[in-house]
Amino acid sequence: MDSQDGERFDLDPEDWPEARRQAHRMLDDILDYVEGIRARPVWQPMPPEARRRLRAPLPVRPTPLAEVHAGFLRDVLPYSTGNVHPGFMGWVHGGGSVPGLLGEMLAGGLNANLGGRDHAPIEVERQILAWVREVFGFPEGASGLFVSGTSMANFLALLVARRAALGPEVRTGGLTPGGPRLRAYASAAVHACVPRAMDMAGLGTASLRLVPAGPEGALDMEALSRAVAEDRASGFRPFLVVGTAGTVDTGAVDDLAGIADLCAREGLWFHVDGAFGALAVLAPGKAFLLRGLDRADSLAFDFHKWGQVPYDAGYLLVRDGELHRDAFATPAAYLRRETRGLAAGSPWPTDFGPDLSRGFRALKTWFTLRACGLERLGRAIQHSCDLAAYLAHRIEALPDLELMAPVTLNIVCFRHRGKDPDALNARLAVRIQESGLAAPSTTVLGGRTVLRAALVNHRTRREDVDRLLDAVLELAKA
Ligand SMILES: *Cc1c(COP(=O)(O)O)cnc(C)c1O
Repeated sequence: MDSQDGERFDLDPEDWPEARRQAHRMLDDILDYVEGIRARPVWQPMPPEARRRLRAPLPVRPTPLAEVHAGFLRDVLPYSTGNVHPGFMGWVHGGGSVPGLLGEMLAGGLNANLGGRDHAPIEVERQILAWVREVFGFPEGASGLFVSGTSMANFLALLVARRAALGPEVRTGGLTPGGPRLRAYASAAVHACVPRAMDMAGLGTASLRLVPAGPEGALDMEALSRAVAEDRASGFRPFLVVGTAGTVDTGAVDDLAGIADLCAREGLWFHVDGAFGALAVLAPGKAFLLRGLDRADSLAFDFHKWGQVPYDAGYLLVRDGELHRDAFATPAAYLRRETRGLAAGSPWPTDFGPDLSRGFRALKTWFTLRACGLERLGRAIQHSCDLAAYLAHRIEALPDLELMAPVTLNIVCFRHRGKDPDALNARLAVRIQESGLAAPSTTVLGGRTVLRAALVNHRTRREDVDRLLDAVLELAKA
């Protein structure tokens, strides 16, 4: 109470002991959710009443915390995506982790702003950078930055590559008409965020040349060399190759060492989209697939996928930290650096990306990496790949099913051979999701709609994979 009439203006609890009891109940409830996740449906559609309750009028008056939490338990928790569940195999979603959950809670209490200044949270983010460098074999001078996800990391990498190609003038003059016609290259299986990044960077999607993928789903290196030569001959300026370590559709890995050679020969920026696949360096049986990754100029990947850190936790790593900084650093009087006091410790994360205010994504990552240990994380990643091999093996033994792409890492594309297979398999995906038994997604490969199981969750076991196949076969009969 700080005003004379006893009115309070702060937002802290009036009854701390009760707030504390409520906080413990909330922590217990969410731990119950994670511990008991197997007993729940993977996903269930939201009933209309729950949706309606989430369209409430402005909360002008306070609501007791316990009541807000009851609303969360009733209307939000049961109808989330389901990616904590071991039966979730759709898209590429991480399963999260208990250390990560707890780290996120602590970060909320600390309420740190990681844009800059001299404080321990920044040192935690720098600690993660040192670990990331070591994991991927990048040099001491490499810089790194937490961002929302790989979509953002790919975009920032593209801006660094653009700055490297066009020099500092591009930051003042922008892209000038009559300037060099820049060309980037990626496999036709590249994630859609890469063409979008070309658009957002002002280069245009037409400046990204998509090179066909070979039979294994990896970029065709001959076709890439030819495309670069052709473009040079017609007056384009090739500047960037995006290699993918784990394509979103099939999990294929481009020939990273081959791309590194080509980029070195041609003087091109070599960026790797390793959203989920990059962390396969931790998997004893799969690390060899990523040979050449340590030669990339930049790498984008997600801790929130195979790293099992709760959303969101994307990461950008750039070999030449100075160049990275040159692509974003902007002087401002109110961000003046000092050698002592809170304004010390330059350079700051804000010098390496577009954000000034930034959350403490590093803490949930620090908790996850330390509490699990990289060895255990690597074993979980390897296990996802082993499960994918098991699933593929079972599909090949089932006459009604057909494997639709080679399995490199953790993604299995398959389909039921029944009548009108495109419509059938699309319907099957929806029915399986609605059954709550499993959650595969779909994609289109060579014009054909297929079921896609991406095994990312560390909780998934053989029985979950079996349940998916049983559901496909049962529901196809119905
Ligand atoms: C998931 C994914 C992305 C996008 O990452 P976000 O974290 O969702 O932004 C990009 N590329 C690949 C290969 C992906 O799997």
